[in-house]
Order: sequence, then C-alpha cells, then structure tokens
Amino acid sequence: MSICVGCGICCDGTMYPNVTLTPDDPQSGLLQVGAAITSSEIGLRLTQPCGALHDRRCAVYDERPSLCRSYRCDLLKATEAGKVSTGEAKRTIAVAIRLRDEIRHLLQQDTETTDERSLESLRERLREGFESANDQAAFQRQHAELFARLADIQHHLHSHFEKTAPSPASP
Ligand code: SF4
Ligand code: SF4
Repeated sequence: MSICVGCGICCDGTMYPNVTLTPDDPQSGLLQVGAAITSSEIGLRLTQPCGALHDRRCAVYDERPSLCRSYRCDLLKATEAGKVSTGEAKRTIAVAIRLRDEIRHLLQQDTETTDERSLESLRERLREGFESANDQAAFQRQHAELFARLADIQHHLHSHFEKTAPSPASP
C-alpha cells in the first residue's frame, strides 16, 4: 500500500497553500465535495487545506487535478526507489503529522482561533503580526513555541519531503 494513504500533508496545507489547476482539470467534482477554487490573473488555484481531503484520502481521486496526479514528494520517490523503507517513511510521515497537530494546537491557544489555514498563510499572518507589533520582542516571546515548532516542521519538510517547500518560520 502506498505511503500516501494516511499521509496527505501535500493536500492539507502543511506543505503548500494551494494547487495550480489547468483549464482542463474537472472542477465540478471538487466543488461538490467542498473544495474551494479561486480565480485570478495568474489562473485557477485549488485552496489548501483541500476540501476534497476526507479522512486523509482524496474524495475525487479518479478525477483529481493533473498536478495532483503527477506530484510525488521526495519521500515517496525515495521509497519507490528502495532508498527508504516503508516503515521508515511512515515514521517520517508520523513526525510531520505530529508537528502539524502541535502547531494547530498552539495556534488555537495563541490566537483562540480554530480556522484551518495552510502553514504558509499562518507564517504570513505571524510575520504581519510581528511587523506591526509595538513590542516585537514581546511578540516573539509570546509566540516562541509556535515559531519553534514552525521552524521544526520546515526543517523536517525540507529534509524529507520537498527541498523547495516554503521558507523557514521566523520573522
Ligand atoms: S506528502 Fe508525499 S507521502 Fe505524503 S501524500 Fe503527499 S506525495 Fe504522498
Ligand atoms: S484534489 Fe485530492 S489529491 Fe488534489 S489536493 Fe485535493 S485531496 Fe489532494
């Protein structure tokens, strides 16, 4: 069984804020299962966390967008090439999911918000908060654990999943 089953961090906003759609990608199935699609001058984007991800599985798997079909993270490629065992890959995925959940928990504590966003948009929000804070040192102290976990997950993602994942968390 693919290591992707039970992972889904390339769909849930942990690694990416959105997926670029082509004009040929079917949209009706995505919209029916709750996915959000935005349109701008740079094209169509499927927002992450993707609304088609149900219980860490893609609800439109047979009609998923072309980029979703072709995407393979470094860990998946290494596992398929026999460079990383399935067990090791699952442990690496488990670490990423634990860090993601810790960040969501800290986010709820720090901001009393339960909205789910991509980690990139969270980083952006923290950066804006830092830049507009009257006391930036106090802002960093207040969110120190959140910044630390964001740096941890970024290092983990860069090391195992995607060398070009978004840049580190600190402001
Ligand atoms: S991050 Fe990698 S292992 Fe996880 S679902 Fe995506 S392609 Fe599969
Ligand atoms: S459409 Fe499916 S494969 Fe693509 S991001 Fe959403 S859940 Fe993941």
